[in-house]
Amino acid sequence: MVTQDQVSGVSFGVDEETRLVLDSLDEFVAREVDPIESELGETWSNPRLRHRPDGRYVEEVVDAIDRIRRRSADAGFYAMNLPEEVGGEGVSTVTWYRAKRHVASHGTGLTEFVLAGPEGPKPLLADAEGDQVDRYLEPAIAGEKSTAFALTEPGVGSDAPDMDTSAERDGDEWVLNGRKQWITNAPYADFVQVFARTMPQSEAGRYGGITCFLVEADEYELGAINNAVGMEGMQAELVFDDVRLPADRVLGEVDAAFYTAMEFLSLGRLELAAEAVGFAEHLLDRGVEYANQREAFGRSIGSFQGISHKLARGRARSYAADAAGLRAAWDLERTGSAIEAASIAKWFATNVCWDVADDVVQVHGSSGLAEENPYVDHLLMARILRIVEGTDEIQLNTIADQLGVN
Ligand SMILES: Cc1cc2nc3c(=O)[nH]c(=O)nc-3n(C[C@H](O)[C@H](O)[C@H](O)COP(=O)(O)OP(=O)(O)OC[C@H]3O[C@@H](n4cnc5c(N)ncnc54)[C@H](O)[C@@H]3O)c2cc1C
Repeated sequence: MVTQDQVSGVSFGVDEETRLVLDSLDEFVAREVDPIESELGETWSNPRLRHRPDGRYVEEVVDAIDRIRRRSADAGFYAMNLPEEVGGEGVSTVTWYRAKRHVASHGTGLTEFVLAGPEGPKPLLADAEGDQVDRYLEPAIAGEKSTAFALTEPGVGSDAPDMDTSAERDGDEWVLNGRKQWITNAPYADFVQVFARTMPQSEAGRYGGITCFLVEADEYELGAINNAVGMEGMQAELVFDDVRLPADRVLGEVDAAFYTAMEFLSLGRLELAAEAVGFAEHLLDRGVEYANQREAFGRSIGSFQGISHKLARGRARSYAADAAGLRAAWDLERTGSAIEAASIAKWFATNVCWDVADDVVQVHGSSGLAEENPYVDHLLMARILRIVEGTDEIQLNTIADQLGVN
């Protein structure tokens, strides 16, 4: 935890502890992730070999992801931002932002599983109590179990509190009914954090009356795989048909889960901003390499202003996006809240990433579109980042609210 003294002045310097984390992450990726990716070979790089006929990842890929997660947890990286009291490393939000960005600067691929994402322990899970700690929180932090965060439904996405999924108390148990969709890691999760209405909106208010339940994989039905182009095999529907859960599966307080989730909204948005800046940096490096090496009309294509300015504009934008991300991380660390700053960082960085990815495809000409190259993958990933954790429009609504125009 960074003290008030340490953050009272503005510093863009990377402190020694953070530098060590970033260097160790590079070593970890080279030592643990790259060999696994090479071992998988085409099974990973070719989307047709990566998936089973039902759309899920093949067993070797699931196993590779599990190994990376566990090894990262052993090395102390995986859940680095969770408090030490619950088994995390307690690094500051600024260090975590830099680590997320740094890992993403390796590009899309298995490195995405080095630091906990939607499949890992989020601060919400730190509310685990009693047996929940041994059964869910600790194994998630150790990378031994993976999870998922289930909010979105066929009828609601951005307007999540208007959910249809409900749970009713029946003696000592809860009875859960409903359907979730687009849930990341749902096809592989050991348990899922499911949000359900436990009191009608008319009585509890818009954000009240929602409870989070810990539901194990053998207790629900896995519905269709929701394939987002560029991230196929990772999202699925979950179906709850009179699922009976003991009372000790409530995570945190009954009726208050949405308020708790909202406390961590800024962190989720910042996470995507960090990834977007990291991907943009990765792409710009690839673009510069190619522009300097490829020749046309007897000169390097980088010597044409039409090309060099694309990369220069991308650099200027990603630099500004990073400054916005760091500012939001700093605000969040210092005050515990960064509503406007996190929305600005998320909206700006994901749009910058999209523009950079598009320009870098253009710099590469036809090879930018080639299946064996990662540029279109990044373009698709950037497009996804503009939808998840609050769409562009929802971020702009938040910024407008903070501005006082509504
Ligand atoms: C790859 C991927 C992973 C995902 N992972 C998860 C996950 O792990 N867990 C989970 O719960 N969900 C997940 N989602 C779902 C995601 O969070 C939702 O898709 C997202 O919140 C948008 O909801 P929607 O698709 O229902 O769009 P809608 O809410 O129906 O919106 C449709 C369009 O209308 C716009 N719109 C809606 N309301 C407003 C408004 N008030 N003002 C202006 N414009 C508005 C939106 O911005 C959008 O452009 C994932 C989705 C994808 C694609």
